[in-house]
Amino acid sequence: MAKTMFLANMSHEIRTPMNGILGMSELLLRTALNDRQLQLAQSVHRSGVALLRIINDILDFSKIEAGKMGLEAIVFALRELVEEAVVLFSEPARAKGLELSCCVGNGCPDRVVGDPVRLRQILLNLIGNAVKFTHRGRIQVTVEYCAEQPAQGMLRFKVTDTGIGIDSSVQSTIFDHFSQADGSTTRKFGGTGLGLAIVKQLVLLMHGEVGVESRLGEGSTFWLTIPLRSDGGSQAGRVSDASVPAKSLSEGDQRRRGDRGKVLMLKHDRAGSPPHSPEKGRGCFLLAEDNPINREVAVGMLEELGHRVEVADNGREAAEAVKSGAYDLIFMDCHMPVMDGFAATQAIRQYQEALDPPRRIPIVALTANAMVGDRDRCLAVGMDDYLSKPFTLQQLEAVIQRWLPASPSSVPSSSTGLQQGTSAPSASPHSVRSVVLDRQALDAIRSLQRNGRPDFLAQLIEKYVASSKEYVATIQRAVASGDASALWQAAHALKSSSGMMGASMFAELCRELESLGRAATLDRVPAVLSKLEASYPSVCAALEEEAGK
Ligand code: ADP
Repeated sequence: MAKTMFLANMSHEIRTPMNGILGMSELLLRTALNDRQLQLAQSVHRSGVALLRIINDILDFSKIEAGKMGLEAIVFALRELVEEAVVLFSEPARAKGLELSCCVGNGCPDRVVGDPVRLRQILLNLIGNAVKFTHRGRIQVTVEYCAEQPAQGMLRFKVTDTGIGIDSSVQSTIFDHFSQADGSTTRKFGGTGLGLAIVKQLVLLMHGEVGVESRLGEGSTFWLTIPLRSDGGSQAGRVSDASVPAKSLSEGDQRRRGDRGKVLMLKHDRAGSPPHSPEKGRGCFLLAEDNPINREVAVGMLEELGHRVEVADNGREAAEAVKSGAYDLIFMDCHMPVMDGFAATQAIRQYQEALDPPRRIPIVALTANAMVGDRDRCLAVGMDDYLSKPFTLQQLEAVIQRWLPASPSSVPSSSTGLQQGTSAPSASPHSVRSVVLDRQALDAIRSLQRNGRPDFLAQLIEKYVASSKEYVATIQRAVASGDASALWQAAHALKSSSGMMGASMFAELCRELESLGRAATLDRVPAVLSKLEASYPSVCAALEEEAGK
């Protein structure tokens, strides 16, 4: 118990200043800096990110050691999880001139039951190592479904590289903690030797097996098998062959061959700059946070996103503020003096339920505690969502987009409406279009144009406009008939193709619809659907304008 308490406290104590370092440097990077200042600030931010990664590894490892690592058993989309993990490495692989491919095999179930966060962590570790220890050649990630028993299948993951390889004498120990194949690699590549130990422990917790086959100088294949239950959803019955030379990718984008084998898929790199929403003054938020640095980070980020924010120093002040202020959303720290966030949430819920008519402001927990069970505790007292510190500007924006009620001004309803919606007085037609479309994605498609061939971008746009119309209609029908499965499938397809065409904000709405459909929580669907319907015409108009260029 003492160890668990210590972990919880340490996790909190370390994350709070990390939030300051990462949040402040992120804000600093968005101000006008000269080259030298930019370099220094980037270096602080990079170091902070690296430090956080190490801290998370140590905490994970200690949690596992203490037997406190709980795994979730929830439904998730396998193919998407694997592809998203691979896409995260498209840029580092491209920078090293490595080919990175991903193949989720025939017959893998679409939806499986397990712990997506931890599976993703395993894959990121293995793919990260493969990229780190490979200087030329390629990295392949494959997933196969092996139905050994009719009732319970097995998923076999493989990460194969053509890297430096591992001497047979140490292959059996590299899964031990703090162990590295060769002392000199530590100095050359860095690393703590905890990654594979965590991978092994997580795989064992999943009742799976993990191993490596490798030859020094030729490359390595790390494999793992995990017994997984499919959630009864449809078998995919398709192969997604995403093999593509990384060096042919435009910066920040990963070209993928889609399920039908011919369609090019371009995915917006989430590590890139976030799709910025310039609609200023969209929401009024209450922030309850006692730590001055954390308060400054959160206020700075909210203002950067164009929102108004009022602050409360503790839970009691927050509960009082709710009685007089009209807030769209509350960010609530959990551990505060006088009254903590849990008690304040209960007080706010009680107060608002007694109103006529009753109200319910979304409350998002901001907590530095990343221990298992925290999320449950937040939800149990009536909070709606959870953001773990340190968080990035992008994560904050994603939470706001999830909870900010649809307001007519927040999403433009047509291309003219859009110009008003941006409300920046100096908004030129160019900046208006770049709100709807992500320039990088369009440039990436343009770069695929071959001399003497028909206009590739114009063709794609024509196909997109036709097919998206169908998808929007399918989504509308699915919502009308309450068909959650048809909803998420159409939203998923529309999300992919919209992302490919650079309509990132529109794709984000599709993603929201998809996850609501997957979770079969249809009550929040109408609000998101109306946003989607409102912005669809502007997406088409902006694309058609691009095609006409
Ligand atoms: P580290 O943080 O040191 O990378 P890991 O536990 O992830 O810790 O890896 C342990 C060691 O195993 C590495 O230091 C390296 O020597 C070796 N290793 C892991 N993956 C690979 C790979 N794909 N190719 C070659 N060596 C690897």
